Amino acid sequence: MESALETARQQLRRAVDQLQLSENDWQTLSTPRRILEVAVPLRRDNGNVEMYKGFRVQYSTTRGPSKGGVRFHPDIDMDETVALAMLMTWKCALTNLPYGGAKGGIAVDPATLSVMENERLTRRYTSEILPIIGPERDIPAPDVGTDERNMAWMMDTYSVNAGYSVPGVVTGKPISLGGSLGRTSATGDGVAISTREALLVRGIDPTSATVAIQGFGKVGYWTAVGLEKMGLTVVAVSDVHGGVTGFNSVTELWNHFKEHGNLDAPGTDRLTNEELLALEVDVLIPAALADAITAHSAPSIKAKIVVEGANAPTTPEGDAILKDKGVLVVPDILANAGGVIVSYFEWVQDKQAFFWDADEIYQNLDSQLMKAIREVEAMSSEQDVTWRESAMMIGVKRVADAHKLRGLYP
Ligand code: NAD
Repeated sequence: MESALETARQQLRRAVDQLQLSENDWQTLSTPRRILEVAVPLRRDNGNVEMYKGFRVQYSTTRGPSKGGVRFHPDIDMDETVALAMLMTWKCALTNLPYGGAKGGIAVDPATLSVMENERLTRRYTSEILPIIGPERDIPAPDVGTDERNMAWMMDTYSVNAGYSVPGVVTGKPISLGGSLGRTSATGDGVAISTREALLVRGIDPTSATVAIQGFGKVGYWTAVGLEKMGLTVVAVSDVHGGVTGFNSVTELWNHFKEHGNLDAPGTDRLTNEELLALEVDVLIPAALADAITAHSAPSIKAKIVVEGANAPTTPEGDAILKDKGVLVVPDILANAGGVIVSYFEWVQDKQAFFWDADEIYQNLDSQLMKAIREVEAMSSEQDVTWRESAMMIGVKRVADAHKLRGLYP
């Protein structure tokens, strides 16, 4: 199987070729600007000291400060971080945010850490990457394995070192520290909006549509909530331990999950993650990790539409199989862009020290994402390319144009 970085580079190469950009453009666009690897020592509660690898990649700063999540996951490495930072670059450009792209993380399983250990690790990681982050430089946010609590610790560590409060250094913070209303649900809201639009493009009434969601974390849960509000039926969800069907509502299932730590709410039936991917539904939403839809799993997919809530959930082989089957794939850089759009709103609110209400945020999210969806759909029809190719071409062209306009220093 291709690595996430090889896949991301292949997608970029295709966009560069389709846009007929030069070899010089390819060199500039395919090279990450800044890569930092740090050792993060952690004193465990029992007094032992352990070392963890931490990463921060600023793939591009051409259109503005770099922006991207912080992932705590045992399998994360530098190549994957570069790939995810590259995706952030095209995502921010596609949605016309004044940002470049970044990503970071620590190779650690947060489930093995106590709260105090998680705090110490987060703070030490922040202090190790401190010289290269900041509201005008690079703005981290939550990703897999991190949440608003980690962002609060990062903001505090940065602020203590600056000597004053700097809320704009991270997004996805608690509301009381300068976070934005609507940020928690934003990625899921964006996935739900993208799903609704893809259904309409395919001539399917959203209120009669069925959906299966792989991954029941921040993205999967809020996507499910957003879709239920729009009248769609979520028939199955899963987490790392497998999936369930037969629940009454997503909120009821979530409440059970919060209380018991499993998805086995009364009345539910179990299914495996493979069975979930192969369900007879209108829409399949991978919202867990990379490489869910592969040459192995794609042939059994029966959904008419795949909406990529996760980053890079489809391998190039899986993508080719879905294309042959006529499945409409809403690519990650469009489908899950709601998170970074509302992160941008949070950053703007922090800069202004003036906060918007929830309705205003949702309306602005809807209109900013809809603009990108319309552009992707239009270019896909005009150029007879897939939505992924269209989204990549729009994002990559904006970055290439910005490079040309800025010129080369010295
Ligand atoms: P999370 O840690 O909150 O949730 C991840 C979920 O995936 C959990 O339910 C976990 O049990 C499940 N999972 C893990 N491995 C699995 C497997 N093999 N099979 C099935 N389920 C599995 O993470 P998240 O923030 O929801 O992120 C999910 C994806 O969305 C990631 O690819 C992330 O990069 C992407 N994303 C997140 C955001 C955001 O705002 N959080 C924004 C854009 C993209």
